[in-house]
Amino acid sequence: MIFANNPQLKSWVEVPAGSDFPIQNIPFGVFKTDTKDPSVCIAIGNHVLDLHCLHEAGFFNELDLPKGIFNKAYLNEFMRLGKSKTREVRNRIASLLSTDNNELKNNTELVNRVMYLQQDCQMCLPVKVGNYTDFYSSIEHATNVGTMFRDPKNALLPNWKHLPVGYHGRASSIIVSGEPIRRPKGQTKAPDAELPSFGPTKRLDFELEMAFVTCKDLELGQSISTSDADEYIFGFTLFNDWSARDVQVWEYVPLGPFLAKNFASSISPWIVTMDALEPFRVPGPEQTPKILPYLSYKGDKNFDIHLEVALKIPNHAEATICRSNFKYMYWNVNQQLAHHTVNGCNIQVGDMYASGTISGPTPDSYGSMLELAWKGTKPLAMPDGSTRKFIEDGDQVVMKAFAENGEVRIGFGEVRTEVLPALVRDEAGALA
Ligand code: CA
Repeated sequence: MIFANNPQLKSWVEVPAGSDFPIQNIPFGVFKTDTKDPSVCIAIGNHVLDLHCLHEAGFFNELDLPKGIFNKAYLNEFMRLGKSKTREVRNRIASLLSTDNNELKNNTELVNRVMYLQQDCQMCLPVKVGNYTDFYSSIEHATNVGTMFRDPKNALLPNWKHLPVGYHGRASSIIVSGEPIRRPKGQTKAPDAELPSFGPTKRLDFELEMAFVTCKDLELGQSISTSDADEYIFGFTLFNDWSARDVQVWEYVPLGPFLAKNFASSISPWIVTMDALEPFRVPGPEQTPKILPYLSYKGDKNFDIHLEVALKIPNHAEATICRSNFKYMYWNVNQQLAHHTVNGCNIQVGDMYASGTISGPTPDSYGSMLELAWKGTKPLAMPDGSTRKFIEDGDQVVMKAFAENGEVRIGFGEVRTEVLPALVRDEAGALA
């Protein structure tokens, strides 16, 4: 067992009941304060631990880490150390935070310098994302969308059960939880309209997804097998792949999503390591028809991670509108990475790969408004008596994820995003 995963470990740092961040989690992120530059950190209970400060104080000396490896605005250089080294770092942090280790615990002056309350910190985008790929790997989601827009009898296209469908997304517009987005504008065309029109989207939607991050480069021309994929995957984050459905419907044939997707994707500030999720591996769904050999895999490659989406409309408490689970994925991350590179596509440290909307089998587990309100035919009741078919200005979408097994709870924090009105120009041409 990985040392840091030991469910018996207890921390001298208070971890409130139900916290996402017990000593067995130790997710990595980047934080800053009003007076402090960005630094790599981990979460424990309600605190963040400044790893740069800890490194400078000599607490990682025996690991022989590069100088300044945590004095960075992104996790990329740390992840590039490779999984055996980053695993050693996570284990060392777990040891330092455990009740039977006095090295840091008894150094009150240092504890005061390296520990911050999360509420006093600003979390930064943790990864400099070079490339972003979005898969479409939930059979329930693909079936729902196919049923709504094509043919309920042939909801899945012929390729769907033979390969993990995906497309290349836009890395530059990946933002961190807490950053609001502007309602995007674009071309739409109503089915009965003769010509397209331009304006703010009327069908703004979220997509509940998980994403993984790679920590190892792969040269152009090479491929990653399903069995080698684990060595390339550092960890996971929660991912809200914002979508403008009316723009999407008009633009997506024949080359797929473009402006309907590239205006923003929001992620949670913490990267939970694949190591921390080891206790939550479960078998994936049976795959029939038989898949090609390069997609076959051994072992449990799905993860039992509870997912939920809440909507907070102005002046009301947030209300949960979806409960799903990462375990429903038809195609697992090892298959996704093997497929992505089977043609020799190179990959880089910091690349991000989202799962596609993760819908479950029941109507309350659908991972988008499109499905929850079934193309607008079943509007959701809101606490103020109104209804929602899609996301309105002033709404906040809040996603949460955690794995729990009775011994430990490994959480991801949240990804929270407020939708601001579209920027429009007045008659003089000024932005209002
Ligand atoms: Ca998506």
